[in-house]
Amino acid sequence: PYSLGPAVSGYDGRRAKWLRNNPGFPAFVAPGRPRVLVVTGSSPRRCGNADGDHVLLRAFKNKVDYCRVHGFDIFYSNAVLDAELSGFWTKLPILRALMLAHPETEFLWWADSDVVFTDMLFEPPWGKYASHNLVLPGWDEQVYVAKSWLGINAGSFIIRNCQWSLDLLDAWARMGPRGPVRHNYGKVLGKALSDRPSYEADDQSALVYLLVTQRGRWGDKTFLERSYTLHGYWAAIVDRYEEMRRNWTPGPGGERWPLVTHFVGCKPCGGEYASYDAARCRRGMERALNFADDQILGLYGFEHESLNTTTVRRIRNDTGEPLDAEDEEIRRLLHPTFSSP
Ligand code: UDP
Ligand code: MN
Repeated sequence: PYSLGPAVSGYDGRRAKWLRNNPGFPAFVAPGRPRVLVVTGSSPRRCGNADGDHVLLRAFKNKVDYCRVHGFDIFYSNAVLDAELSGFWTKLPILRALMLAHPETEFLWWADSDVVFTDMLFEPPWGKYASHNLVLPGWDEQVYVAKSWLGINAGSFIIRNCQWSLDLLDAWARMGPRGPVRHNYGKVLGKALSDRPSYEADDQSALVYLLVTQRGRWGDKTFLERSYTLHGYWAAIVDRYEEMRRNWTPGPGGERWPLVTHFVGCKPCGGEYASYDAARCRRGMERALNFADDQILGLYGFEHESLNTTTVRRIRNDTGEPLDAEDEEIRRLLHPTFSSP
């Protein structure tokens, strides 16, 4: 069958050895704080609609902001590393290549191009995942009982750099090669899952399929996270931002102030298979990006005039002095020091 590359074995031991030999690149950068690489990307081609590349640029700026504030590294891919794994499948070879090339990275966090970080303060509870290798937004009942392809979301997930993950990527990728294999696995997924029409195999359904059919192999090390919005469905979020700002503060990570607003089904770049009205999607993205950007601009004394416009205004007097923020929140964002949640 198809494989992502030469089989890797004994990886954990070899990675441990590399880490011993390279003490300048520790996998934990502070007690309880793993070294994290956020990975995102988009197609090698320019977007099909005129606005798409501008939206992609702003969505990338948003990720850069979140990473800077948390001290995470970031990687942007716009290459399809393996022609067999085109489209959404392309994240698999990217993750594998980055894992092997960066043994210092403990966790890789895949974020789709249409994922917007809307809580700049929230830091994942790393300690909670000490005995897990994969953190997916999802629900146990929906995956293991209902066998729903929507039981998880594959647009924002965290994966540990280890042998288990390399094995998972291999098993997962076997369903992805374009053409007859992807087509036939689409039928298999359609039968095995409860609510999926049988179009060609997609990465999200394939992952649910692995969890459902080989729970013993993959389930134990997979954490289905629902205590914060590692993925949040945009349509239920984008009209609530003003209300959130009035009533809550960022940081805790729950439904009240979602960490991630994910524009599932909007296809900001392509449009061909979009499941929603383009204008509604575009307006939602504008609002999410401005809402997130206000959390950054505020640090420098500015904010958007409203969430619907790119125009900004000053909200604090410029004194010309170094900013000695009295506000604890602002201080944390300007000069991040890791504190384990
Ligand atoms: N992607 C990529 N290269 C490609 C196609 C997709 O890096 O050639 C990434 C991109 O980040 C996208 C994700 O894969 O958000 C998921 O692909 P999908 O087609 O599901 O796009 P979405 O619905 O998220 O826009
Ligand atoms: Mn997406």
